Amino acid sequence: MNSALIALEAQVCADLAKTAHPDAAWLTPKLGPDEKPALDVLIVGAGQSGLATAFGLLRSQVSNILVLDRSEEGQEGPWLTYARMHTLRSPKHFTGPDLDIPSLTYQSWHEARFGEEDWQSLDLISRELWAEYLLWFRRVLDLPVRNGCEVIEISPAAGGLLAAKIQTADGVDVVFARKIVLATGQEGMGDWTIPEPLRHLAPSLCVHAAQPIDFASLRGKRVAVIGAGASAFDNAATALERGAAEVHLLCRRVEIQVIQPYRWLTFRGFLRHFCDLDDTWRWRFMRTVLEMREGFPQATYDRCARHANFHLQEGAPIVAAREAARGVELQTPKGMFATDFVICGTGIDMSFAGRPELRNCAGNIATWADRYQPPPDERSPRLGRFPYLADDYALMERVAGETPWIADIHVFAIASTMSFGASGSSINAMTTAVPKLVHGLTRGLFRADIERHWASFRAYDVPQATVERKIRDQV
Ligand SMILES: Cc1cc2nc3c(=O)[nH]c(=O)nc-3n(C[C@H](O)[C@H](O)[C@H](O)COP(=O)(O)OP(=O)(O)OC[C@H]3O[C@@H](n4cnc5c(N)ncnc54)[C@H](O)[C@@H]3O)c2cc1C
Repeated sequence: MNSALIALEAQVCADLAKTAHPDAAWLTPKLGPDEKPALDVLIVGAGQSGLATAFGLLRSQVSNILVLDRSEEGQEGPWLTYARMHTLRSPKHFTGPDLDIPSLTYQSWHEARFGEEDWQSLDLISRELWAEYLLWFRRVLDLPVRNGCEVIEISPAAGGLLAAKIQTADGVDVVFARKIVLATGQEGMGDWTIPEPLRHLAPSLCVHAAQPIDFASLRGKRVAVIGAGASAFDNAATALERGAAEVHLLCRRVEIQVIQPYRWLTFRGFLRHFCDLDDTWRWRFMRTVLEMREGFPQATYDRCARHANFHLQEGAPIVAAREAARGVELQTPKGMFATDFVICGTGIDMSFAGRPELRNCAGNIATWADRYQPPPDERSPRLGRFPYLADDYALMERVAGETPWIADIHVFAIASTMSFGASGSSINAMTTAVPKLVHGLTRGLFRADIERHWASFRAYDVPQATVERKIRDQV
């Protein structure tokens, strides 16, 4: 480790010590059915959201926590797995997991690692360095993370606790917790989608963009990419760079969408108070944002456009697809496209029942469609499937009383966006969204313990001063 990084780590410790107030412990572990102390909070997912949540909880003196991730260390999230862009799309100055501690920002880490000049000349952050920064963040804060642990079921347990069944290489284990945060990423409450007309195609011919793809095998092949968001362009570019003969990017819209709505909404008022709006406004904004989909940056487009064999096809939704003697034929209003391989960059869809960890409550999770009827011109069945979350990011029941325990399961992912706006889904919102989640968690823990706090207060008898009484005062 270089001396600047050693100095930065010392600075982190000093900054945290200076801002630790109030640092009194305030939680007493509850005993689980196994007679061992249950966790106060179990966080599922050690991507940036899970790590930042753990950090926020530790700063709130909630230290009896654990973060689990099914991936191996360093492989959490998209950065070194299915992300196919060279750099992050967000500007380099956006802060995130640091929760406003200057020494914990990406900038501080980058400057310590490569020097201030390098930071000044940097355009965008490489995804490899972002992944390395997240590992550093986790190490310097000594966050309690366990990798290779997949949460495969959540159920209610005695004493108002939750039981999380965990699959590890050694078998199945059970952990008890008062609260669980699902920081399980984009597909945390559903899955990546393949548009309906393509679903019958063999996986050797059609995949979604988050699947592993052997791009070397696409050399000399015709590739079709469905969708026109940033990930669609990243996959098209990767295919072109690996020698695909031609790449057609098929965009549903008559004209491709070039506005990035997340840029507009990146201001403190919106990020902080969107969740305080009524349903009408929340639906109106987020339906518009999510239907616009993620815009792509100029560099992402240029990475494709510099190849003569890249073709953008606008106004070309897939109407039908059939396997042909060689590859696939895609029918669109713009005509037929013959291709050898299809990559769908078409985002995610909510499907609670498809997630094993939600199987005991999937049918009773309230959705937006359960709670809000938009005007006819604002309807969207896809967005109606998003969970309708409580003000502490907790799941709510569709039918009250059937699964009351889900009020202790908090969702921090793209699934939270209909209720909270940008939150668990992008770096831009972390500085406001993570503290709000942590606030909700600590509020729940505090309220649930109110009898104990009252008893503790009533028993509190520590004198702050010694008062000497003189004989004449006592007359
Ligand atoms: C390709 C791509 C590029 C992006 N680029 C940007 C960008 O440039 N700027 C920006 O602001 N945002 C970007 N985003 C959006 C967002 O920042 C990322 O999705 C980010 O990874 C979200 O962090 P997260 O911690 O919520 O989820 P993730 O990073 O996905 O982490 C979730 C973790 O949960 C684990 N997990 C899931 N289920 C279980 C389970 N049952 N048990 C145990 N572990 C589980 C997974 O293994 C994973 O490691 C991008 C997203 C994608 C997909």
